[in-house]
Amino acid sequence: MPTITKKPPHVLVVPFPQTGHLVPHLDLTHQILLRGATVTVLVTPQNSPYLDPLRSLHSPETFKTLILPFPSHPLIPSGVETLQQLPLQALPHMFEALSRLHDPLVDFLSRQPPSDLPDVILGNSFLSPWINKVADAFSIKSICFLPINAHSINTMWGQDLEVRSFFDELETCTTESYGLVINTFYELEPEFVESVKTHYMTHHRVWTVGPLLPFKVGANRGEKSSIPPQKVSAWLDSCPEDNSVVYIAFGSQIRLTAEQAMALAAALEKSSVRFIWTVRDAAKKVNSDIDNSDVIPLGFEERVKEKGLVIRGWAPQTMILEHRAVGSFLTHLGWGSVLEGMVGGVLLLAWPMQADHFYNSTLMVDKLRAAILVGENRDYVPDSDELARVLAESVKGDSPERVRLMKLREKGMEAVKGGGSSYNDLDDLVVEMCL
Ligand code: UDP
Repeated sequence: MPTITKKPPHVLVVPFPQTGHLVPHLDLTHQILLRGATVTVLVTPQNSPYLDPLRSLHSPETFKTLILPFPSHPLIPSGVETLQQLPLQALPHMFEALSRLHDPLVDFLSRQPPSDLPDVILGNSFLSPWINKVADAFSIKSICFLPINAHSINTMWGQDLEVRSFFDELETCTTESYGLVINTFYELEPEFVESVKTHYMTHHRVWTVGPLLPFKVGANRGEKSSIPPQKVSAWLDSCPEDNSVVYIAFGSQIRLTAEQAMALAAALEKSSVRFIWTVRDAAKKVNSDIDNSDVIPLGFEERVKEKGLVIRGWAPQTMILEHRAVGSFLTHLGWGSVLEGMVGGVLLLAWPMQADHFYNSTLMVDKLRAAILVGENRDYVPDSDELARVLAESVKGDSPERVRLMKLREKGMEAVKGGGSSYNDLDDLVVEMCL
């Protein structure tokens, strides 16, 4: 841990309300708290429960919450305050709504005695257009957090202006901020980290702090697990062979169409593999563009009950991925899931669907050759015979991709240990916040 000669920093954390962003931002917050910082997290009322695990670990003197009402928006139903309740197309509406937190936040900060003002705002890069303005108004630093890797940043920020569309402003504001924290580790992609520093940020205040690990072992991560985690671990414990189970999950945002779910179910049945399949809870989504999604075919669960477990809603994902019985992971390649799969040491079967999943695929499948591509795109319907073969194969011995992933895992675990590159960057970040 660093020797902080000045008073430890007071950091205002402003996360983006979507699990893939929120979960690692809170993991990062925990690391900063461990390094002596005082933290205030800004959330809207419905998102306050996400902070409970942190509240239970840190004292109210060092961990505080600022709850501001969610600004109403004509296209966001009242009571909806997270992106995972909405289709991805609602992202601009979410940006717009959250940008209206600018005035209430300025108002709140104006009423604070100068000694209580934060030294830094550590906000999600998606919110940087208005967060930078707040920081400027109070002459405090704005440091951005992006829970993705440097390869994705290079790809996105290197695209033509038309492709970047409204993301262009986010990129500009992020590069104008004081610094950038990303959830990757240097040894995974040194050339891309260097490129973010030299080509885009044009300075060296880019901290690679990943893989950000869950701060509470076995705890509900993001949402509360919709099945008792002990039930899942008991099921996994009962699997006699190590690395024999396939875990299937597509993150917090994606839902399969009925046709895709049917093909996947058929593949699982044909393959005879043991599996855990997580499907999103239909009731939780509003304004969805897909009807009938994530429907498990009638009779499927009964037929496969000896081999498989279907979880409807929220799964204790990291616990599953780290269990000795799990050998492979059919994933949409959300970056959080990629890192969790790597930490769990499972073979990644990649089905990138949207947004940065494709860049993650380029990095993990093409460049590092540490994952196997089994599907591509939102509308892809797998051939059930072919997928059955891949699934069965994925739990038979070590593939070259898994061997390579295990080597990366080793480097990642070194990076987060005392003296490792990510550990040192976290120390550095906190020191820099005090300057
Ligand atoms: N997650 C979970 N249980 C679920 C679904 C997701 O714990 O049933 C967690 C997962 O472990 C990861 C995050 O939610 O930490 C999802 O982030 P990711 O980047 O993988 O995908 P996104 O949801 O952003 O598409």
